[in-house]
Amino acid sequence: MNIILLGPPGAGKGTQAQRLVDRFGMRQLSTGDMLRAAVKAQTPVGLQAKAVMERGELVSDEIVSALIDAELSAMDADTGVIFDGYPRTAAQAQSLDGLLASHGRKLQHVIELDVDEDALVERITGRFTCAKCGKGYHDTFEQPAVAGVCDKCGSTEFKRRPDDNEETVRTRMAEYRAKTQPILPIYEERGIVTRVDGMADMDSVTSAIESVLNG
Ligand code: ADP
Ligand code: ADP
Ligand code: ZN
Repeated sequence: MNIILLGPPGAGKGTQAQRLVDRFGMRQLSTGDMLRAAVKAQTPVGLQAKAVMERGELVSDEIVSALIDAELSAMDADTGVIFDGYPRTAAQAQSLDGLLASHGRKLQHVIELDVDEDALVERITGRFTCAKCGKGYHDTFEQPAVAGVCDKCGSTEFKRRPDDNEETVRTRMAEYRAKTQPILPIYEERGIVTRVDGMADMDSVTSAIESVLNG
């Protein structure tokens, strides 16, 4: 199974993708995570992407599609994929069609997480992740069971993204509205889009997604 999680920054794409990975053994392909890894490693792609990401703008279509191609090429064709944060433009959606075909994959579902924009700033500014295993948390909505200790791996180190500040979030939301939302009709025409209420609590969102995948 190959699915896309679509939604603005803070909609819950990463949170839900991690849960699907744990439950169904699918692979999460997050272009945001790949780009952050490239920035950290100071690869040529990372050097090019760093400032763009800090501004909250979109990295070039060629760069992100090449990252996805490399991941798909290195993967077993029967491992299910969750595309998280990709595609984000019409050109990327077109590239993805070509990549899926060339890797013998078919897209079953596009799940749109529908959220109230006012809630997103609070979600984003309170977001943090485990520095070791990457599990996502929130200052208010999902704290570790024991303060300062990761539930999943026991690490005591956490990190926050430099672009998770209010000003950058506004740019990221504008980018989403201008460039990403307009790709939905491409998938609606194929009858594969399901809108899920992303304002519900995390467990309810997971159940709603699972029923789409099982349906
Ligand atoms: P995205 O990957 O779409 O940018 P995340 O999954 O990282 O979003 O979620 C953003 C923040 O909001 C995280 O700190 C996460 O813990 C929190 N969050 C995710 N889903 C919900 C939800 N349904 N209700 C409340 N907080 C949520
Ligand atoms: P969020 O989870 O908050 O939606 P991401 O981690 O997906 O954010 O993306 C962080 C940043 O990385 C984006 O603001 C953008 O600069 C860059 N980025 C990630 N994915 C893409 C993509 N598919 N196309 C262009 N830029 C991307
Ligand atoms: Zn951890």
